[in-house]
Amino acid sequence: MTVDDNLRVSVLGLGAMGSALAGALVDAGYGTTVWNRSAGKAEELVARGAREAATAVEAVRAGQVVVACLLDHASVHEVLAPLAGELAGRTLVNVTTTTPDQARELAAWAADAGVAYLGGGIMAVPHMIGRPGSSLLYSGSAEVFHRYEPLLNLWGSSTYFGEDAGLAPLYDLALLASMYVMFAGFLHGAAMVAPAGVTAGEFASMAAPWLTAMTGGLPGYAAVIDGGDYTVAGQQSLAFSDLALDGIVTATAEQGINPEVVALVQGLIRRQIDAGHGKEGFARIIESIKQPG
Ligand code: NDP
Repeated sequence: MTVDDNLRVSVLGLGAMGSALAGALVDAGYGTTVWNRSAGKAEELVARGAREAATAVEAVRAGQVVVACLLDHASVHEVLAPLAGELAGRTLVNVTTTTPDQARELAAWAADAGVAYLGGGIMAVPHMIGRPGSSLLYSGSAEVFHRYEPLLNLWGSSTYFGEDAGLAPLYDLALLASMYVMFAGFLHGAAMVAPAGVTAGEFASMAAPWLTAMTGGLPGYAAVIDGGDYTVAGQQSLAFSDLALDGIVTATAEQGINPEVVALVQGLIRRQIDAGHGKEGFARIIESIKQPG
């Protein structure tokens, strides 16, 4: 059942993600128009009930809500800038990944053009869209978010961070930063055990439950950081962590692999020890991260 049988939605961009978002709208029964720069990407969606527009302007004219899912900020501008007049009075939901400042710039452009703007960050891969675990982060117009929340919820759980259009991309990229560094850590571990004949799959079967258990420590680190006191009792000290990293870096060298990933963490620890904070907790390395060396 559709949330609003009369709502017409257009999706600009039928890459892997735009196609998944458009597919969820079509399956929910929305009148969905799709457009892609290159031909040949709309067939499956059209077979499911979407309408294909020959041009971006035709797509914009067809939708009260226009969803942009393009490659990057530059491509969003390239497509939308000539269409400001057509977009006026409509709603733009931009789910293309941008930086916070790029999102603020786009929101200001939209405001000047008389376009209601909501920006989103997608915390999912295309096959997760519309399935449990898919999460989308939004900021920009509260009115747009609340009005179209049922539509947005088709793609995954929706979280709204406020009118500052930069907030959703900020969370998006901060969460991705956490993920990439964690993945690099896993890959470092896999490279360490490989010379011993351990497959990445065997290592993953040990690493997944270990890392899952370790995420239980995040609220504790957060409490120390938010409390602003790295001397709180019961924490693993920086001096202890440095010793642990010594062992890890030495074992890495013994395995004949690149120590860059773990050496980077040890470097952050050492800067705080050198500044006289060796007895304080590990969470203090956030001070090394906040201040470029
Ligand atoms: P794809 O590379 O699959 O698709 C990119 C889309 O952008 C295509 O439709 C492409 O058109 C279009 N495009 C690129 N440049 C231009 C341009 N100058 N003018 C017009 N159209 C252009 O990317 P995804 O669909 O995977 O990603 C889309 C957005 O979603 C990105 O911002 C990405 O960061 C974000 N995202 C993607 C995730 C994923 O796992 N895929 C996860 C989370 C976010 P054409 O077909 O003509 O090349």
